[in-house]
Amino acid sequence: MPADRSIESARGNPILAHASRVDRTLADATPVIDLRGLRFSWDRGATPVLAIESLRIDAGERVFLHGASGSGKSTLLALLAGVVVAQGGQVRVLGTDLADLGPATRDRFRADHTGIIFQMFNLVPYLSVLENVLLPCDFSPRRRARAEARGGSPRAEALRLLASLDLDGPRFLARQPAQLSVGQQQRVAAARALIGAPELVIADEPTSALDADRRDAFLDLLFRECARESTTLLFVSHDAALAARFDRRIAFADINATATRLAAA
Ligand code: ADP
Ligand code: MG
Repeated sequence: MPADRSIESARGNPILAHASRVDRTLADATPVIDLRGLRFSWDRGATPVLAIESLRIDAGERVFLHGASGSGKSTLLALLAGVVVAQGGQVRVLGTDLADLGPATRDRFRADHTGIIFQMFNLVPYLSVLENVLLPCDFSPRRRARAEARGGSPRAEALRLLASLDLDGPRFLARQPAQLSVGQQQRVAAARALIGAPELVIADEPTSALDADRRDAFLDLLFRECARESTTLLFVSHDAALAARFDRRIAFADINATATRLAAA
């Protein structure tokens, strides 16, 4: 929802005015994601994978992004994470144009502000469950301070998140990822993305390895944690059954001119 519209409706409506997501929007009208004239190709001179004129996502929005395989969804997430930089246009996250940052500052910006849940979870195999969840606090003093403020200590906050994701018990916490089921690995990855309350969580087809029951339960937990902090969630999936649960659904072909051309060909 555009900030100006939510401000207007919040003023006229006392119930809305008290909704925390609207409060957050009122307090901070800077979009969490703001793309303009984005052009990106993996190979110089090749047809761009991404040609997105504009995309704006505000604080607290939960967005479902779907589209054909190979159309560039993961590439867009890599740009939003600052792993790669666009050749043209702007990729603003929380008001910062990521192209203005050098590689080290971009890494730091990502660690501070963005939680990432990968398709294959990317847990560090030689670390325990607890150590994996605490990893963002090692990379980002900001995330560490926020985890401390919320849980008393980063460890206590990691334990709270894991418990809220139904991952409990001392034996479990000491395990390594290879000793976990796929569903458990995925929830550990979610706890790692959420610790220290990053403003933005991006998830790349995180439910593709789960059965329907586990998938729904996972989404319940993810939504609950995002609502606690008015976290913006950009969730890439081709699982149409999940779409209705989000605030906003975006067909990738509708925003990416390259994908539209491919679909029309
Ligand atoms: P999606 O996530 O929608 O399936 P991707 O963003 O993974 O799509 O891929 C979009 C296109 O970019 C594909 O043609 C893919 O081969 C290419 N691509 C993805 N990652 C890389 C990379 N690291 N190097 C070169 N080409 C890539
Ligand atoms: Mg992908």
